[in-house]
Amino acid sequence: MDLGLKNKLALVTAATKGLGRGCAEALAREGCRVAICARTTGDVQRVAGEIAAATGSEVRGYTADMAKPGDIDSLLVAVKAQLGNPDILVTNAGGPPPGKYADVKLEQYPQALELTLLSAVRLVAGVTEAMKAQGWGRILMITSIAVKQPIDTLLLSNVARSGLTGFMKTIATELAPFGITVNAVLPGLHATDRMQQLAKNQAQQKGTTPETALAEMAKTIPAGRLGTAGDFGAVVAFLASQQAGFVTGSNILVDGGAYKGLI
Ligand code: NAP
Repeated sequence: MDLGLKNKLALVTAATKGLGRGCAEALAREGCRVAICARTTGDVQRVAGEIAAATGSEVRGYTADMAKPGDIDSLLVAVKAQLGNPDILVTNAGGPPPGKYADVKLEQYPQALELTLLSAVRLVAGVTEAMKAQGWGRILMITSIAVKQPIDTLLLSNVARSGLTGFMKTIATELAPFGITVNAVLPGLHATDRMQQLAKNQAQQKGTTPETALAEMAKTIPAGRLGTAGDFGAVVAFLASQQAGFVTGSNILVDGGAYKGLI
């Protein structure tokens, strides 16, 4: 199916690895020009080259830390100057540190909100005027299954992503008349670097191996396996498509059936 995305400009943040990279690759494969960012300059340049070589699309890499408002401003200025106004925005950032209520210090809350909630708000603020003017735009926010089913050990993530979900739903209503859709995409368990790290931690605690910890995680998923970055990117590319123009204000799970609630 042609998703109608040829030559659209997509900005995907936190995209040298994992889910962000999966989204950047899927959009580049559909013919989008893509801007990616992350904090590690060497990775950003290398990955931009790899995705461009694999897809034949133009891909540019920028160094930016989503926890730093100044970096987000500079990223937006550079992308607009070099590539133009993004037609598609995929917001992503590394997750806040794990911890239960008893472990989390008060000063960690504003940091988590800056990284996970306000970075997305700043990025959206930087792209919506041009999207409104052209009467078309796609905004996708990577959140988590935790907004439907909070994860006990990820208090900061649960709090910040729930706030982002409220932002997503509210602006979706306001931006729909301008041809802009706004949706959140909720990963379950995907085999990324972050998940490998989590498996290592679990293995240490349980006295087992990371491979066993990953296999145990996979058993909790009805599909019988962890997701891949490709599984996730494909759904994001579809939500960015012309065909998905009537989908807005939605929370779309990509979790192999892991979520146990009804709606
Ligand atoms: P990952 O494999 O560790 O990749 C993270 C990517 O983001 C890397 O490119 C990293 O590059 C970049 N990054 C990290 N912190 C950043 C920051 N402050 N500013 C800019 N770029 C940053 O992680 P992932 O598994 O794809 O997870 C992506 C997001 O989805 C996270 O928020 C995670 O909590 C959430 N999530 C993931 C899963 C899952 O199963 N994987 C499930 C639910 C939610 P640099 O380190 O060079 O910056």
